[in-house]
Amino acid sequence: MIYDYLIVGAGLFGAVCARELTDAGKRVLVIERRGQIGGNCADEVRDGIRISLYGGHIFHTNSRRIWDYVNRFSEWQQYEHRVKAVYQGVVYSFPPNLMTCQQLGVEPGPEADFIIKERFFRGYTEKQWGRPLENVPASVIKRIPIRSTWDDRYFDDRFQGLPVDGYSAMIARMLDGVDVELCADYLADREYYDSRARRTIYTGPLDALYGHDCGRLEYRSLIFQHTRHDTDSWQGCATMNYTEKCVPFTRTTEWRYMWRTPKLGHTWVTHEYPAAYDGTNEPYYPVGDARNNALHRQYSERAKREGLIVGGRLGSYMYINMDQAIASALALVEKLV
Ligand code: FAD
Ligand code: UDP
Repeated sequence: MIYDYLIVGAGLFGAVCARELTDAGKRVLVIERRGQIGGNCADEVRDGIRISLYGGHIFHTNSRRIWDYVNRFSEWQQYEHRVKAVYQGVVYSFPPNLMTCQQLGVEPGPEADFIIKERFFRGYTEKQWGRPLENVPASVIKRIPIRSTWDDRYFDDRFQGLPVDGYSAMIARMLDGVDVELCADYLADREYYDSRARRTIYTGPLDALYGHDCGRLEYRSLIFQHTRHDTDSWQGCATMNYTEKCVPFTRTTEWRYMWRTPKLGHTWVTHEYPAAYDGTNEPYYPVGDARNNALHRQYSERAKREGLIVGGRLGSYMYINMDQAIASALALVEKLV
């Protein structure tokens, strides 16, 4: 049987496309290089505690439409992410707010702004991105609010939460009734996979698709170190950001404070270590500076000429959150059907 659409990648973008195309009467095949669905949202339960395999994922959106959409596929646990920053062994309220200024002993104003930049943004940003703070696109740092109120939530969106039985289960429900093949790498045999469908939607990196023949797009990678500790509580909160450059990890997440779990006598903690992307590890973050964006445009024009449909965080080379991945998948399918 020839499918109408081949979707490369069983992440959130691919899953929403698959759901919407299927509901519009199209026959869809999803292939996924990894051994599981869910892309970077994937999670699993270890010893009774749900952990995200690729870093903490908190759903947040201002869009009623996107919130209603995800509520079709999961029940949601009320959750507002709160993070603490650690600098030289001292713990601060974060994102910067009036409490942070009080802890720093400064009034809000230019002096506070300078201290905040040097203590909380320079070291963290330079280790995360492997380049000076000044060379990181401003849009990346602007993800973090600096507030002149006492609000210490990481996000201020209208709708925030966690899917009660995790993202993998939610994405599995999106893929209900859709053919999915795991451990299937599109790039290993492009011709064969393309021959199975009339059109292809590709959600992986575009430079790899073309053998990097116009140059390599830059990405940043991460190493996740998941550790079990035989204690009820390891840090007593969900996430702590380590903002000094000399501390090799950026953040630690103790999972039982995200998906609320009773005391079990053990706990799971994940350290995130930033790493260069070397072509063999995972490209978690696009580095959207002028050079990379121009190169990406070149690759995406080529894909367009070939009739290949491209999307998702890697394909579109945009540092998008889950709600944006869903919105762009919905917009794409609206255009297609
Ligand atoms: P992905 O999840 O990357 O899925 C792409 C899939 O394609 C992958 O499964 C990959 O294996 C597969 N693939 C690639 N190439 C091939 C190939 N050749 N053949 C077959 N399959 C292939 N968003 C939020 O809203 N809130 C958060 O708190 C949040 N935290 C994050 C933390 C981290 C550390 C990271 C990295 C991201 C975070 N995000 C968060 C962003 C979120 O992960 C993305 O918005 C979302 O996963 C994008 O979905 P996607 O399908 O585009 O990409
Ligand atoms: N950032 C920082 N200090 C922090 C947290 C974030 O300097 O304590 C900067 C850093 O450059 C990071 C960016 O803000 O890459 C966005 O942070 P966010 O927590 O949104 O990153 P993500 O969860 O996407 O990895």
